[in-house]
Amino acid sequence: MKSINSKPSETKNVDLVIQGGTAVTMVPGQAPVPNARILIKKDRIVQIGPSTEIPLPHGSALDIIDAQNGIIMPGLVNAHAHTAMALFRGFADDLPLRTWLFDKIFPAEADFLSPETVYWGALMGCIEMITSGTTCVADGYFFQDATIRAVDKCGIRAVVAQGVIDFPAPGIPDPKKNIRTARDFLEKWQHFSERITPGLFCHSPVTCSEKTLLRSQQLSKDYDKPLQIHLSETSAEVAEIIKRTGKRPTHYLDQLDLVDNQLIAAHGVYLDKSEIRCLHKKGAGIIHVPESNMKLSSGIAPLADILAMGVRTGLGTDGCASNNNLDLFGEMDTAAKLSKVSTGRPDATSATQVLEMATIGGAAALGLEKETGTLEKGKKADIIVVDTRAPHLCPLYNPVSVLVYAACGADVKDVVVDGTTLMKERKLCFLDPNEIMARVGEISEKIRR
Ligand SMILES: [Zn+2]
Repeated sequence: MKSINSKPSETKNVDLVIQGGTAVTMVPGQAPVPNARILIKKDRIVQIGPSTEIPLPHGSALDIIDAQNGIIMPGLVNAHAHTAMALFRGFADDLPLRTWLFDKIFPAEADFLSPETVYWGALMGCIEMITSGTTCVADGYFFQDATIRAVDKCGIRAVVAQGVIDFPAPGIPDPKKNIRTARDFLEKWQHFSERITPGLFCHSPVTCSEKTLLRSQQLSKDYDKPLQIHLSETSAEVAEIIKRTGKRPTHYLDQLDLVDNQLIAAHGVYLDKSEIRCLHKKGAGIIHVPESNMKLSSGIAPLADILAMGVRTGLGTDGCASNNNLDLFGEMDTAAKLSKVSTGRPDATSATQVLEMATIGGAAALGLEKETGTLEKGKKADIIVVDTRAPHLCPLYNPVSVLVYAACGADVKDVVVDGTTLMKERKLCFLDPNEIMARVGEISEKIRR
């Protein structure tokens, strides 16, 4: 198979055309464009609009994606994931977070994670995301050199963050070396690829000391890279921080000067209004992770309040061990419905708001809104086509309603990232899924034994 990094020729004015479907651009206030045509040169959109206004360029070698009877939209942004945890899908279900994490996941990670297993787990998570319409992921984990190799190979856009925690962790048996490992990671990958942003991932305010949080934040500032963290995921965690510091978690982080536009906080289940105001005022991002919060019985985040305050809000799946899939279409459906049931208001969070979270909202929370998240001239060509020729998507009164409440990842037909077609007519262009699943199968056999 050809490699992902073989770039298109310099001579053509247009390299790829996507045409025929209804474009849901996610540009605020813009109505869907029926029978749209999008012209792509190298990695960027050079023209987008109705086919009647944009002629098809001449050239026999032109690559064309036929989107007739489909919806053309920005690729989805999975703003919180631990991709390689695809290895632990279904390994430990139906447990509370603390038992699940400390008795099952941490020991299994200690025994089985290595650069090799993280590479294959991340590669499988990535192809699951690509084949279900995700074109950008924010990942936080360990052995992240391996995740960068996987992300580079498969072609997805990514923020790949090195884990920082004050316990012995995979690849960092001595926690005293966690900051040095993080610095080495940023130093090594900071200029590697425009498509891949290295970052840091402090596990949580409970599992990282004040000193570790401060040193991580300094590194994130020195290298101008994002800092991810789990924030207010459980009530026990909030109680522990209040007991230890006298402050709620967000105010504790703010006192340490961690709350700024580089902070990407996942979960936020127990944020009160003063914390949401603080996150908004300082420009931090919040990532809503409803299915993981439901599965671990952690609680329900106050999504309607967060959105009403105008916080940069994205949507994430979390790792496969607490979801148990990486399909953001399912996550959108859950997010919208959970908000309704938790507030008792069917209009609490609309389909449009949730679709924004999964596209431009997530991009903004990751600091990538100038590059991805909408279909606009000048932006990176991160685009998917959803095939709507299926009974569960018919009739089509409103494309946004279909995408949020009826579609699933398997309806995605074509995926383009950075101007490169990664999946066409549901076939991956660069990777053999059978080989990847076979390697993950071998690893899972060892974990099972
Ligand atoms: Zn997480």
